[in-house]
Amino acid sequence: MTRRVTNDRRDAPPVAAAAEMRRSRPTTMSNALHYKSNLRDLLFNLFEVNDIGNTVLGRGGFANLDDATARDILAEVDKLARTTLAASFYAADREPLRQDDAGNVLLPAAVKQSLQAYYDAGFGALELGEHLGGPGAPPSVIWAAFELIAGANPVVAFYLFGSFIAKIIDRLGTPAQKRRLLAAHVAHNWGGTMVLTEPDAGSDVGAGRAKAVHVADDLWEITGTKRFITNGDYDGPANIIHLVLARPEGADAGTKGLSLFIVPKIWVNEDGSLGDPNGVRVSKVEKKMGIKGSSTCELVFGDDRPARGFLMGNVHDGIRQMFHVIENARMAVGMKSAATVSTAYLNALGYAKERVQGPDLLRAADKRAPRVRIIEHPDVRRMLLSVKAHAEGMRALAFFTAHLQDQVELLGGHGGAQAAEIDCLNDLMLPLVKGWNSERGYEQLGIALQIIGGSGYVQDYPFEQYIRDQKIDSLYEGTTHIQALDLIFRKIAKDGGATLQALAARIQQTIESAEGGDDLAAERAALARALGDINGMLMALLGKLGESAYHVGLQGNRVLLALADTVVGWLLIRHAAVALARAPKAKAADRAYFAGKVASARWWTRNVLPSVTLARKMVEASDLTPMEVDEEAL
Ligand SMILES: Cc1cc2nc3c(=O)[nH]c(=O)nc-3n(C[C@H](O)[C@H](O)[C@H](O)COP(=O)(O)OP(=O)(O)OC[C@H]3O[C@@H](n4cnc5c(N)ncnc54)[C@H](O)[C@@H]3O)c2cc1C
Repeated sequence: MTRRVTNDRRDAPPVAAAAEMRRSRPTTMSNALHYKSNLRDLLFNLFEVNDIGNTVLGRGGFANLDDATARDILAEVDKLARTTLAASFYAADREPLRQDDAGNVLLPAAVKQSLQAYYDAGFGALELGEHLGGPGAPPSVIWAAFELIAGANPVVAFYLFGSFIAKIIDRLGTPAQKRRLLAAHVAHNWGGTMVLTEPDAGSDVGAGRAKAVHVADDLWEITGTKRFITNGDYDGPANIIHLVLARPEGADAGTKGLSLFIVPKIWVNEDGSLGDPNGVRVSKVEKKMGIKGSSTCELVFGDDRPARGFLMGNVHDGIRQMFHVIENARMAVGMKSAATVSTAYLNALGYAKERVQGPDLLRAADKRAPRVRIIEHPDVRRMLLSVKAHAEGMRALAFFTAHLQDQVELLGGHGGAQAAEIDCLNDLMLPLVKGWNSERGYEQLGIALQIIGGSGYVQDYPFEQYIRDQKIDSLYEGTTHIQALDLIFRKIAKDGGATLQALAARIQQTIESAEGGDDLAAERAALARALGDINGMLMALLGKLGESAYHVGLQGNRVLLALADTVVGWLLIRHAAVALARAPKAKAADRAYFAGKVASARWWTRNVLPSVTLARKMVEASDLTPMEVDEEAL
């Protein structure tokens, strides 16, 4: 893998060949099938780093899924993603959603075909346990499939949300609710939504005004307007199950007073058959910057006819119940960003290997010097390594977290006493996966576009759509700052820093045990410095709290990003150590892949980890100027 960097260009392509290459436009991605998956790196995370073949598959609730079957499932999903799902990626952007006279939302035909193909391939129940007809796959495998689907077509990935809603009803519903809803929901791939946001209740979910009036038993009637609801309406499934937060009459203000209701689009009779349309009306379909084929609706409940719903589990515990959905959605958002950066990287790499432009920098003064492919320019190499290392880092962060979720399940699930410690670590990781992947993802997509020059800006290539489709990730499911507040107050401060210390101890273990040997000594030293800086940063923030809690608001995002930069550095070093250990016995293609893993870790420790020191200094220097400057001066 090591590239000779010398003035001797005997290996450069002859001028005539180079001219021919220049004339030929790179074809790597300018076609309908934009998606380039990285199954190799996915499997590396799952089987070589996290070793799920030995630690998860064949155990507990995953007893009936073995290593080979899990790999087969992922290979099949990968094939479907690269072909049939990717086929509607552009249509999902360029063919608008329509509404019929009754207000029903109609999807572009190509998107419906992709969805149908997914169901026809038998993946509708992929994330479900065996008792619901699924394969009983662990979170790692489910998230791996999700990465492939979201990378191929994020719009299609959203429409598959219904099966997760079935999972939630199975987890939290009463036996009668499950009997009524689940069999039909799963058999017919009903759609699903999570319904929190209102015009005056965005980040401040507790400001919601939607009301619930008790009818009888677990039956309630909902009134109110919700906005920005993904999957709010679309044609295809026979029904959509809305999970709606609303406030029972007389309940407390704030999030604590909210309850969760199961509100079907079409009423579901006791035997699971469909009744009349329920009182849920689409009052607007949003026109968006990206993910245009995803139906984002304003929904009015109960204005022209009653909107009936069941109180989830027949208990008033709405926000806690909805968090089961929110946590899954936050993970999905981080995974979606990782998937998009990964395909952007591989597309940019393919282009850079073909596009010929300019001489080698070492022969810049020589007019007769052969023109070279842009992958040979140092600045393009710099950008490629940046996007590569981030794509791998985002995936590493997400699958480290997914593997924690595997372990939680094996230890008895959320709320189980034995699972508590790992569950807390999973909770700590979620704002990093969601916040860091989405923020860094947007930056890296800009770099990926830059790699291919002006072509990146036109619609012949997928980059501009990647950027538009990904930008939403730092906004919904809690903006990045909402993630930062969650991280600092709920995930770090609430347990007195115990969970963060447990994470730091794992990182320290890598440093002290000299993981990766001499080859990675410099990388571990950089990691040790970054870990010290994180500690210093948090101590500084704690000290500033005496002056004002505004410092948390001013510095929160910086803390989140720096912590994730450090955790990702740790994970990339661990990945490099595994790669180094496996390389000597590897096949040729794998040797190149393993060398690439080491290159990513080296790049990270030299180009990202030093920024943690700077971040610490900025937190130490935090002052209240932004809050003290007159509003008129802004
Ligand atoms: C395409 C799309 C799909 C969506 N899908 C769904 C869905 O399926 N279900 C659903 O319920 N919602 C959905 N949403 C809504 C989404 O979750 C909200 O847009 C998001 O939570 C932010 O709320 P907001 O837009 O009202 O922004 P605001 O809350 O008004 O935030 C505006 C700015 O103020 C900042 N801010 C707000 N409060 C604070 C605070 N306390 N401290 C510091 N800064 C603060 C924010 O960080 C942000 O920078 C979707 C939105 C979009 C655009």
